Amino acid sequence: MKLDRKLKMGMVGGGPGAFIGEVHRKASRMDGQIELVAGAFDINPDKSRQMGKQLYLDPKRVYGTYKEMIKGELKLPVGERIDFVSVTTPNNWHFPIASDFLKAGFNVMCEKPMTFNVKEAKALQKLVKSSGKVFGLMHNYTGYPMVKLARDLARGGELGEIRKIVVQYPQGWLATPLERTGHMQASWRTDPKQSGGAGCMGDIGTHAENLSEYITGLKITQLCADLTIFVQGRKLDDDGNVLLRFNNGARGILHASQISIGEENNLAIWVYGEKKSLEWHQEHPNYLYVKEPDGPLQVWRRGNGYVGAKSPAAARATRLPSGHPEAFIEAFANIYCNFADTLRAHLAGKKPDPIVTDFPKVVDGLRGMLFIETVLASTKSKQKWTPFKK
Ligand code: NAD
Repeated sequence: MKLDRKLKMGMVGGGPGAFIGEVHRKASRMDGQIELVAGAFDINPDKSRQMGKQLYLDPKRVYGTYKEMIKGELKLPVGERIDFVSVTTPNNWHFPIASDFLKAGFNVMCEKPMTFNVKEAKALQKLVKSSGKVFGLMHNYTGYPMVKLARDLARGGELGEIRKIVVQYPQGWLATPLERTGHMQASWRTDPKQSGGAGCMGDIGTHAENLSEYITGLKITQLCADLTIFVQGRKLDDDGNVLLRFNNGARGILHASQISIGEENNLAIWVYGEKKSLEWHQEHPNYLYVKEPDGPLQVWRRGNGYVGAKSPAAARATRLPSGHPEAFIEAFANIYCNFADTLRAHLAGKKPDPIVTDFPKVVDGLRGMLFIETVLASTKSKQKWTPFKK
C-alpha cells in the first residue's frame, strides 16, 4: 500500500484529568507523522465525548466505549480508519483492549505494565505473532538519546564484561494514603483489581528492570525480593528492594519506592564493567557519565557529534542542538517515531531498517510481567534465590 499521508491514530484512555494519554497525544504528533483521529477516551462515555470535543475531533469518531470504536472504525474504508490504537488505560484493561484491536486487524501501541498477569502476557505474545501486526510497548525511558548511547557503549564492549548493575526508581508521592482522597492516579494504582499483583514494583519497578536489560543486553536469571506495604491499610506494595543475578554472572540491585519522601522520578542506573562504568539519571537525561580507573570523570552531552559517532540511534533520537534540553515528551516521541517508521514499512510490505525497529515490543512486556510475578513469588518464599519465571 502506498502511504503518502500521516498515520491515523486512535486512543483508548486519556480522558479528562488523565495523566499519560495527554503525553501520548503530544509526543505522537511531535514529528508530524501521526494524527489523532478517533478515541474512546474515558471509562465514562460522556467524559469520552467531552474529551473528543476538547480535542476538536470529528464527533462521529469519538466513541462511548472501545468496543464501539472497533465497530465504528471497521465500517470506514482502509486509509480512512485508524492505522493503530494507543492503549493508555489502567493496567487491567490493557489485555482486553489490545487483544480485541489486534483481532480486528489494528496495530497497537500499549502502555506498561503490558498486562495484568503473565498468563495474559503470553496470550498477547501469541496473538501479536499470529496477527502479524505491529505492537509497541511504552517503556519510554529507552527512548532517551543518552540511554541509547549507554546501550551502544555497554553492548559494544566499551565497559568490558559487566560486573554489577545498580538501578533505582524512587518516588515519594504515595507516602501518605493519597488514594483515600479520591486522587485519580493513586486510586487505581493501589487497587489490586486494577493494578495487578504488584503496586510500586509493577508501576515503576518494571521500568527499572526494563532499563537494566535494555542498556546491558543481559537478562535477569534469579532474584531475591523484599516488598513492603508501609502505608497502613494499603493492599499493594509501596516499596521494594531486589537483589539480581544476570545471565553473564553480573550482580545487581534494584529498588523502587513510592514512599521515599522528597523523591520525584529519581530513576537512575549505574553499570559497572571490568574496564569502565557508566551512570545516567532520568531527571538530568541529557548527560551520560562515563568513568574509568585512571582518568577524569567524562560527561557525555546530548546533541554533540561525538555522541552520534558512537551511537547512530542516539543521533536519530535527537531533535535539538546541544544545550537545549530534551526530556520526557521527546523520549515518548522517539518511541512513536520508530514505531511509526516500522508501521509504515509494514503497511508498504517492506522490511523496516533495523535502526527504526528499536522500540519496546511484546517480548519486553512479557519480561516485565515475568519480573513482577518472580518478585511476588520471591517475597513470599523462604528461599534466598528465586529463578526468573519462564
Ligand atoms: P489515569 O488514571 O490518569 O488515566 C486513565 C484513563 O483511562 C482515564 O481517563 C480513564 O477514564 C480511562 N479508562 C479507564 N478504563 C477505560 C476503558 N475501559 N475505556 C476507555 N478509557 C478507560 O492513569 P495514567 O496515570 O494515565 O496511567 C494509565 C496507564 O499508563 C497505566 O497503565 C500506567 O501504568 C501507564 N503509565 C505509564 C507511564 C510511562 O512513563 N510509560 C507513566 C504513567 C502511566
